[in-house]
Amino acid sequence: MLRKNDIIKLNIGSVTLQGSGVGRHEGLAVFVPMTAAGDEIEAHILKVKSNCAFAKVHKIINPSPDRTEADCPAYAKCGGCVFRHISYEAELEIKEQFCRDVMKRIGGLDIPCEKIVGSESRTECRNKAQFPLEKTADGVKIGFFSPHSHRVNEARSCPLQPKEFAGILNVFEDYIKRYNVSVYDETAHKGLLRHIYLRKAAATGEIMVCPVINGKALPEDERLCSMLLGENGNIKSIIINENREKTNVILGGKCRTVYGADYITDELCSLEFRISPLSFYQVNPAGAEKLYEKAAQFACLDGGQTLLDLYCGTGTIGLTMAKNAKEVIGVEIIPQAIEDAKINAAINGIENARFMCADASEAAKKLESEGVKPDVVILDPPRKGCAKDVLETVAQMAPDKIVYISCDPATQARDAAILTDLGYKAEKLCPVDMFPGCGHCESVLQLIRE
Ligand code: SAH
Repeated sequence: MLRKNDIIKLNIGSVTLQGSGVGRHEGLAVFVPMTAAGDEIEAHILKVKSNCAFAKVHKIINPSPDRTEADCPAYAKCGGCVFRHISYEAELEIKEQFCRDVMKRIGGLDIPCEKIVGSESRTECRNKAQFPLEKTADGVKIGFFSPHSHRVNEARSCPLQPKEFAGILNVFEDYIKRYNVSVYDETAHKGLLRHIYLRKAAATGEIMVCPVINGKALPEDERLCSMLLGENGNIKSIIINENREKTNVILGGKCRTVYGADYITDELCSLEFRISPLSFYQVNPAGAEKLYEKAAQFACLDGGQTLLDLYCGTGTIGLTMAKNAKEVIGVEIIPQAIEDAKINAAINGIENARFMCADASEAAKKLESEGVKPDVVILDPPRKGCAKDVLETVAQMAPDKIVYISCDPATQARDAAILTDLGYKAEKLCPVDMFPGCGHCESVLQLIRE
């Protein structure tokens, strides 16, 4: 019987999407983070359950050829990345295999899966970060929460983020010290500055700085603006977001622009996009272009079709496909995102797109009752997937094709099985790595009406 604190020899056979290696000890699966397939290790058992055990590396006896030197000093503590100790090729293989497996295991669908589309790079590939802060005896820590905790690990130079973010965070440290600004303490629900939320438009270089505060205003906000602009001339927008709730949700509903525009502008698939702080925008823009390209391939538009883009955010997917569609209808629940989407259509001179601010299921029902018959429906829901009535209403509209984009292959597989029962055949799958280094994967599924 395996017990806590036992040291055992283990061969790691595979790695989960969350980055844990899996070895077998007398038939029991043992999960060991920070290992690689092919590692021979001594594992220190931390917890034993009836169906599996958890361990940490005690010693590496023989390293896997997949191993590589992690390129981030915060890697072991941060929890943001889980694959920086293995090569990117090995990471992509794990992700592709996960998407195939989950479609079979959860969706019961054994369908062709294209080779995963990888990212150009595992560094500086994200355009957004939300940094929590923590007051210390002699200053402030700015970084990310440790896994499963709300302790801040100092990490200003995250390899996933644009390099310029570190300098902006340093300005905040100076500002906090100089003006004695209080930092939010979530247990006491006291203190002002909660998060520093930064976004950079990769194509134009424009940066948005958005301090999230538990209050109405920041002291000396004009001074803060000039300090920020002195640090980085690409800052085009400084917006204060108010969040006074006792909540884990980072952003509050109110935004007040204290410098520049209410948005920054990016380019994606040769179109211009305005992004405001509360709107969803893909975090990996180079990856997003590849994702949209794949979605367009699976949608097979030839200029004559009506395209329904459910969960459209700022309209990016529908607008990038509009030139090949007769009409695009976008649906999204966040009002600011819909405002952005309408402006995005206008600034790109796109006249065959309209947008509705509504819950996907209500909008689908309304469109269905109006007799709207889309030829192609794009589904790009959040991680929890689509509500069942959305899938039912979409199936009633009877589009020829559904292109289902997902950042959680497990809920995608669940929904694919439901759509199969509603008369659609899951035709092919293509994983796209939008989150290099991290334990997440995007995937695109094409379904065809039978
Ligand atoms: N397709 C967009 C956004 C995808 S993220 C893009 O590629 O950029 C998912 C989007 O679904 C978010 O913008 C979120 O605000 C929206 N959303 C979440 N729940 C929704 C619901 N019930 N109805 C409509 N939209 C919803």
